[in-house]
Amino acid sequence: MGLRTGAGWIEVIAGSMFSGKSEELIRRLRRAKIARQKVQVFKPEIDERYSVDHIVSHSEMRHESTVVRTAAELLTRVEPGTEVVGIDEGQFFDKELVDVANKLAERGIRVIIAGLDQDYTGQPFEPMPQLLAVAEYITKTHAICVRCGQPANYSQRIAQVEERVAVGASDMYEARCRRCFVPHADAPTSHITEA
Ligand code: ADP
Ligand code: ZN
Repeated sequence: MGLRTGAGWIEVIAGSMFSGKSEELIRRLRRAKIARQKVQVFKPEIDERYSVDHIVSHSEMRHESTVVRTAAELLTRVEPGTEVVGIDEGQFFDKELVDVANKLAERGIRVIIAGLDQDYTGQPFEPMPQLLAVAEYITKTHAICVRCGQPANYSQRIAQVEERVAVGASDMYEARCRRCFVPHADAPTSHITEA
């Protein structure tokens, strides 16, 4: 990313579940550390899959992280000298994350945010749409549809839970393409596929 030294910016990595967002975030963070940059990583308190002090991909890649409850708290936890801020599960933050990301970028920090761009019904998942609007760089990741093998852009909920936020992995969700996605909470549960 060839911006002038000292200038910050926002990168967003968005896509469905299992599309490799966390892997891509971790890859970028590791490269920043190889370049001896000071890196801090945050995730929201709601995501307690796997680990409280690491972000972890479905493929078991991991990176240390700090849990924060709100975007405002995240801002207070950024230390002097930090050059890169990574944020996973951006969709579970409040809408203030947009202001916080802008503030950090204006301070000269490279901000990298990974998150789900749609919920399990296919609706845009705030605050990701707003972050996509303000980001300098956007990467859209795709999973593989477990039904047909085409690129998947949707997270199909296969467990019977009504809440918008229900944290789970391949026990509760599977990747589906547009043709195979059924945008209702009452999708059949008889096709649970281990991902
Ligand atoms: P995300 O953060 O987008 O949920 P992760 O980075 O945590 O994705 O995990 C990506 C990994 O998930 C892949 O490298 C692969 O090992 C695994 N995986 C499981 N199911 C699928 C699928 N249907 N399509 C692609 N990758 C999958
Ligand atoms: Zn499909």
